[in-house]
Amino acid sequence: MSACDYQLFVIGGGSGGVRAARIAASLGARVAIAESDRYGGTCVIRGCVPKKLLVYAAHFSEDFADAQGFGWTVPEAHLSWSKLIEAKNKEIGRLSAIYAKNLNGSQVTVMHGKARVLDAHTVEVNGQRIRAEHILVATGGKPFVPDVPGIEHAITSNEAFELPELPQRVLVVGGGYIAVEFAGIFKGLGSQVTLSYRGEQILRGFDDDVRAHLHDELVKKGMTVRLHDEVARIDKSSQGGLLVTFAGAAAESIEVDAVMYATGRVPNTKGLGLEEVGVALDSDDGVLVNALGQTNIPSIHAVGDVTHRIALTPVAIREGAALAQTLFGAKPVSADLTTVPTAVFSQPPIGTVGLTETQALVQYGEIDIYSARFRSMRHTLSGREERTLVKLIVDTASQRVLGAHMVGSDAPEIIQGLAIAIRMGARKDDFDATVALHPSAAEEFVTLRDKITRKKT
Ligand code: FAD
Ligand code: NDP
Repeated sequence: MSACDYQLFVIGGGSGGVRAARIAASLGARVAIAESDRYGGTCVIRGCVPKKLLVYAAHFSEDFADAQGFGWTVPEAHLSWSKLIEAKNKEIGRLSAIYAKNLNGSQVTVMHGKARVLDAHTVEVNGQRIRAEHILVATGGKPFVPDVPGIEHAITSNEAFELPELPQRVLVVGGGYIAVEFAGIFKGLGSQVTLSYRGEQILRGFDDDVRAHLHDELVKKGMTVRLHDEVARIDKSSQGGLLVTFAGAAAESIEVDAVMYATGRVPNTKGLGLEEVGVALDSDDGVLVNALGQTNIPSIHAVGDVTHRIALTPVAIREGAALAQTLFGAKPVSADLTTVPTAVFSQPPIGTVGLTETQALVQYGEIDIYSARFRSMRHTLSGREERTLVKLIVDTASQRVLGAHMVGSDAPEIIQGLAIAIRMGARKDDFDATVALHPSAAEEFVTLRDKITRKKT
């Protein structure tokens, strides 16, 4: 195509878009990118990074308490929420600047403004029409909140990062990643926390033992976890707080200082011009793509959260890189997402890779389950009643390890390593033959011997 300004125009400067732009430019393509907010996207500005910084901050309260079991006398500690947010914002500013600088350094034309697709090869940014051989939609997602009376009083994760002060009493609605992570953040920082989830157990989709184990640990930490729960309405209370009334005959209510909804995220496809151009969307407004990230319009592609599949940063990055290689590299590349490890940065955290027990049973028919629950060495002296869970799921026939799950300190760090082994097809005897690293919690994964065999009925 000759009359094009760019070979690739990327809409969205988050994890997936930035990676696609930089790889495409490194492969010699003429690339431009537009971002309507700050470069870095959800992960850097209002997702993974600030969240993990707040998780670190929240953990200190337990560290101070635990230290006493090791002989320390710890003076009463106080949190300055404003100092924490200021430090977090400084770091986010630094990272966002690096994203923009790296794009510039990669010879990508960097634009600031909201982009809109006009036709299969044209986008508009700040009133300027730009022609491109390929358009990549990498616009991510945004929080979804259900239509509940008084929902305007509630916040989402976006606002939680910028609250003027730490709320003393918080209700978190939802039972997924963000709900569980923020419930732990608020609790650790000193708030009184109630978690309200509509289903029978938090973290649907995770291994059932993991879900139950984390639930128990949250309750042990003093969190109120309400299951089969539904918020009926939220009103301003006469005391200056929020009065939350739950559904049910009793119309029970609690007063809190903040209500945070973490009830999922929806793809950013509204107002992008996609439907007008004829790009097919799924029932949740996610952009439908094939294995190579291409939509039904051959010159328009999509990666990351906007496709409404696995909403994780490393996945968006993989998809962005694969797309750039497909368009400008030697041969088409589809992102291999067969074994995606994931972590929930709850307190204690979860690390997981591969199949859950339920999934493995359905897919393999007969499986061996190895698991252990134990008190970590740290807590023998701290006195904390926290238990760690490790669990391996093995295919009985081939002895391949199908899944590894952990709830406990450092679980995300440990599971990343196990993900390599599982991706390579490690068998249970490979785990057994691996010498333990002592003393660690991770060594439990190579010393598990007692199994329960389960068959699909
Ligand atoms: P995004 O990073 O959302 O980037 C999309 C960009 O497009 C945004 O910057 C947006 O401003 C821009 N944009 C939108 N519309 C336009 C337009 N019309 N024109 C120009 N620009 C536009 N994932 C993990 O792997 N680990 C974690 O620990 C983790 N924690 C999270 C915590 C929270 C609170 C949240 C909300 C998410 C978390 N995630 C985590 C998920 C992760 O942030 C996303 O999966 C990831 O950011 C998706 O990248 P993306 O490129 O698809 O979209
Ligand atoms: P999730 O999909 O993880 O969880 C949404 C929760 O909200 C579920 O418990 C769901 O219940 C509940 N819910 C949905 N609709 C309603 C409703 N109408 N009323 C009441 N409850 C409702 O979404 P999150 O918002 O927590 O996070 C979005 C995605 O971002 C995650 O799925 C994950 O991919 C990514 N993320 C990753 C993180 C990480 O890697 N550590 C951290 C944070 C986010 P039900 O289960 O019954 O459907």
